Amino acid sequence: MTNKLTHFVNGKNVPGQSGRWFEVTNSATGEVATEVPMANGEECARAIAAARAAFPAWAATPALRRARVFFKFKELIERHADELVDMITVEHGKVRDDARGSLTRGLEVVEFVCGAPHLLKGSFSGDVGRDIDCHTIRQPLGVCVGITPFNFPVMVPMWMFPVAIACGNTFVLKPSEKDPSPSLRLAELLHEAGLPDGVFNVVHGDREAVDTLLTHPDVAAVSFVGSTPVAEYVYETASRHGKRAQALGGAKNHMVVMPDADLGQAIDALMGAGYGSAGERCMAISVAVAVGDIADRLVEGLESRVKSLKVGPGSDDSSEMGPLITAEHRAKVASYVDRGVEEGAALVVDGRGLTVSGYPGGHFLGGCLFDRVTAEMRIYKEEIFGPVLCVVRVADLDSALELVNNHEFGNGTAIFTRDGGWARGFASRVRAGMVGINVAIPVPMAFHSFGGWKRSLFGDTYMHGTEGVHFYTRLKTITSRWPTTVRAGSEYSMPTMK
Ligand code: NAD
Repeated sequence: MTNKLTHFVNGKNVPGQSGRWFEVTNSATGEVATEVPMANGEECARAIAAARAAFPAWAATPALRRARVFFKFKELIERHADELVDMITVEHGKVRDDARGSLTRGLEVVEFVCGAPHLLKGSFSGDVGRDIDCHTIRQPLGVCVGITPFNFPVMVPMWMFPVAIACGNTFVLKPSEKDPSPSLRLAELLHEAGLPDGVFNVVHGDREAVDTLLTHPDVAAVSFVGSTPVAEYVYETASRHGKRAQALGGAKNHMVVMPDADLGQAIDALMGAGYGSAGERCMAISVAVAVGDIADRLVEGLESRVKSLKVGPGSDDSSEMGPLITAEHRAKVASYVDRGVEEGAALVVDGRGLTVSGYPGGHFLGGCLFDRVTAEMRIYKEEIFGPVLCVVRVADLDSALELVNNHEFGNGTAIFTRDGGWARGFASRVRAGMVGINVAIPVPMAFHSFGGWKRSLFGDTYMHGTEGVHFYTRLKTITSRWPTTVRAGSEYSMPTMK
């Protein structure tokens, strides 16, 4: 008998009613770990109704009190960290240290919203006209929806709901069906922290659930993170139905290695950024751009490191890289490696034949390294989302910039160099949302904002930080005059300062 998950609506675990189930696998063994119900439209509508009913009282709760729930939530997450880390490792597959790191990055958003009263402060201008003052406030939107990907089952939902809820909104989360357990646990912990019923709800599902959430008249805003085709669909559909929307999509992040870079540091960084989390990160480096004469030394250094990468179950603390999320995804990534060979790239390390002793059914793929990849190849153009690093050789910084800037995606990028002029020029001219200088994965902290350019983000606002607060609130500007002052009489012309 496998464990069956529930939805979480109006403060309670609610069994699925649609009769449709999705089998969640343990990525290291390939066995079914749990089954998750796939919500139909009616079940989603009930979650939206619960969130709508909870909204007026929650919006009217002082921000300081809302923040106090998050202080408690932070404490509970810290207390249950091991349990959450284990859930991530079993269902996603990433190694425990990495899972813990992603939990911490999510927790930092919770810490950020503990300052909600400060974040929501408006501005005030006295005497904008004779005896007239003007002030601004930011007010919540209503029911907000989050739709999240498999690769960060705790961190990405936590980019969204803490900010939305601390701003006074209520929330419906539709997590990835591939690793849904941590979201439910987060809902239970929020409940334990004192969040009123209906403020945070979880419905599991696929396109049927998503379509209800995107089109329902009682939903005010939609945040999405996932692949570019779905991001584009979500953004267009939600916008067409009058919702505020932000949809973060896929990536192909380039790391430019200049000839003067510290080679050891660059290789260490590429190993972590290319193969950490089995390459299933939207900020993973999947292209190394070797500039000038560093290419041979770079590829040689990478080759031995990729060959000795320790691949194993995430629960084994000596593993450096775990399995991929599903057997289908493993097959898709391996087929990209086949294609790269057909396209004429040089396969320096081939991880396709890897087996992990004791885990015959696991979704493991060894690290793969391609050299002499060109911009015309599909392995360069498309997001592979696996442990496959492509090296492209170019002559100079201008050619490297042209390559990065011409790519469809523009999430993150990095340059490794000792030259301040090169680094500064790159940061200024590159077309990407997040740039690292000798930092391979420049994920902004919670008090800054996360988002990419080009087809890596649809919409105008990034996640968390002040951008997140702006996304989940509306600005209201109030101009006031009190009757005790001198009466101005009727004015028929446009009011101006007299
Ligand atoms: P995905 O697009 O397949 O799924 C994301 C969410 O959308 C899931 O909740 C899924 O159930 C739902 N979904 C899937 N297909 C749908 C459809 N046809 N209609 C409606 N909803 C649908 O993405 P994934 O495979 O879970 O995650 C990996 C992708 O996410 C990669 O492309 C990665 O780059 C991207 N990602 C981006 C960021 C970022 O910040 N830009 C962060 C993490 C992941």
